[in-house]
Amino acid sequence: METPTRKELIRELKNHLTYLKDVGYTEIPCTEELLTNPSQDTSQPSLSTKIMPKKSLAAVKKELGDCTRCKLSEGRKNIVFGSGNPNADLVFVGEGPGADEDEQGLPFVGRSGKKLTEIIEKGMGLNREKDTYICNIVKCRPPGNRDPEPDEVSACNPFLIEQLGAIKPKVIVALGKPASSTLLGRTVPIVKERGTWHEYAGIKLMLTFHPSYLIRFYTLENRKAVHEDMKKVLKELAL
Ligand code: URA
Repeated sequence: METPTRKELIRELKNHLTYLKDVGYTEIPCTEELLTNPSQDTSQPSLSTKIMPKKSLAAVKKELGDCTRCKLSEGRKNIVFGSGNPNADLVFVGEGPGADEDEQGLPFVGRSGKKLTEIIEKGMGLNREKDTYICNIVKCRPPGNRDPEPDEVSACNPFLIEQLGAIKPKVIVALGKPASSTLLGRTVPIVKERGTWHEYAGIKLMLTFHPSYLIRFYTLENRKAVHEDMKKVLKELAL
């Protein structure tokens, strides 16, 4: 990986600070210790220089345990950790469990899950369980399917980082704005940036629409867009 230039680092820092402001931070979440040893910080959305921790997926799940680190634990039925192949080359990251996922303890098993499976199996010709791993930025259902709040994303982020570090896929696909913004550590205008390549801790990151957005705005243009994005992912996986 190329060392970022000073200009790139300043731009990335500015984007990151803007993101923290956008998601509701009023002060910089940073301790004296983190200033001297920044690689210890796993609580915040990452800058691209973040070092991937090495732990097995099972160890990450064990560490998460019967989590009560944020208020989403109060209303959940099940933690939705993730599903699929722990050695997959391709990981999809969604937003958070809905009612069906909460009920079954599995990601993307409801209506948007059906759409995602269709994209993976019909669109990409892959097998969802064998060829991919799927998880979310938060592991518990936000009440009424609202967007996860900053403190909830923050509490869950160390586990997402460790999950991705354990799997080390070739490609990560962020589904929709919240997942894209969390992984990039800035507010992502998804309509503008979908279909573009980014990097998450040395891993190629593609941004695309969330399946529920596709269902809601089922236009030929949006379907074509996701199809094009997935074609780019397949090409990258074949390299
Ligand atoms: N939407 C998501 O973002 N994740 C799920 O697991 C289900 C629906």
